[in-house]
Amino acid sequence: MQQHASTQQNYGDDPLAVRDSEKYQEEYIEGFVDKWDELIDWDGRSKAEGEFFIQKLRERGAKKVLDVATGTGYHSVQLLEAGFEVTSADGNPVMLAKAFENARKRGHILRTIHADWRWLNQNVHDLYDAVICLGNSFTHLHEEADRRKTLAEFYATLKHDGVLILDQRNYDALLDHQVQPTHNYYYCGDSVRAEPEHVDESLARFKYSFGDGSTYHLNMFPLRKAYVQRLMQEVGFQRVDTYGDFQETYREAEPDFFIHLAEKA
Ligand code: SAM
Repeated sequence: MQQHASTQQNYGDDPLAVRDSEKYQEEYIEGFVDKWDELIDWDGRSKAEGEFFIQKLRERGAKKVLDVATGTGYHSVQLLEAGFEVTSADGNPVMLAKAFENARKRGHILRTIHADWRWLNQNVHDLYDAVICLGNSFTHLHEEADRRKTLAEFYATLKHDGVLILDQRNYDALLDHQVQPTHNYYYCGDSVRAEPEHVDESLARFKYSFGDGSTYHLNMFPLRKAYVQRLMQEVGFQRVDTYGDFQETYREAEPDFFIHLAEKA
């Protein structure tokens, strides 16, 4: 895969026409990746998430975890520090380099795998107790065939009783106009604004504005919660439990994020 080191995103003449599962490679250019930690704000995030994922993994006796959307490494590092055996994968080399650097600064050597989810098992040759795909990453797949292929690849790399933990923004609330565009999303640092610039049934284009005046975009597929649950069941997951902002009970419009726990057995 190519390294994209440019400093500007390029969506061409018609940004709303860009609905392509490959686009993530160009969206996470260096400038944006460098800003990403500012965007996700590790301290603020750890306050919001607490030990939710650690607890869920421990409840299932999981030890070996594959982080398939490593990004800048937040969850990989958190889980390493909690004593899990973590492998960190991502399709974007700029992200993986940043994650490696972030982990090194905290005294860890990340075990990384450069792999696109759709062909994950070409590069991942082991079985895991858990696969985590967090930080609203699955939304980068714009075609249904890619979503099915990806879930099947995640399923295949799990042990017989493994669990997939996958989260997503609450797009139902956006699509059904239950939240204001000015809504402040929980995982953003104070110096970043994330706002939907365009939303239709197959595109959510978000704009991220930083304190220094720079702006970046992401074109994402607006996943409806019930649709993701159905896809998970269709690829073979036996049980899917969904949490809203880390709680078991929630009002549909309220949570920013849904977290699916999909069990293989
Ligand atoms: N999990 C991290 C977090 O919570 O901060 C990163 C989230 S970031 C929104 C999405 C990540 O998914 C990026 O690092 C991107 O490179 C990766 N990604 C998107 N599509 C992918 C694909 N098809 N295969 C592998 N990685 C992909």
